[in-house]
Amino acid sequence: MKEYNYCPICGTPLQVGMIEGRERKYCPKCDFIDYKNPLPVALAVAVKDKRFLLIKRGMPPRKGMWGAPSGFIESGETPEEACLRELKEETGISGKIVKLIGAVRREDKEIYGDMLVVKYLVKVKSGKLIPGDEVEDARFFDIAELPVYYVNLLKDVIEEIQNEEVF
Ligand SMILES: [Zn+2]
Repeated sequence: MKEYNYCPICGTPLQVGMIEGRERKYCPKCDFIDYKNPLPVALAVAVKDKRFLLIKRGMPPRKGMWGAPSGFIESGETPEEACLRELKEETGISGKIVKLIGAVRREDKEIYGDMLVVKYLVKVKSGKLIPGDEVEDARFFDIAELPVYYVNLLKDVIEEIQNEEVF
């Protein structure tokens, strides 16, 4: 994580002090306080015929690993919109949000630091599988061949899908 040493607004060297119960950097000249907030990420657990759509990451962090399509929520976007946009960008597939699975904290020590990951269950609607620019590969996995860490993270959802007619 990159740190501010100078005020990004007026360029004054930042100082450290107790502000609202935490040690934070602040600008002694203007009102800037360097609050640390998690980056918001939307993630798609995309399913078709009881198979899960995963991507092989082409960029750090976790380059070369298989995982769910995901990405940062942009300003002006709802988390649902971000989820479906990332799914489309990374796999070429259009989907429909079924429900919110949950929101969890993740820490990426490589680049991004603290993240708030909002996970949605998505039903695949249409589209041809085309891995996006930032993705090495994209394909559907049977439940039996899913990576172990993916199963551990999504145990409840996977169980639910196994027993649901709609998927
Ligand atoms: Zn300032």
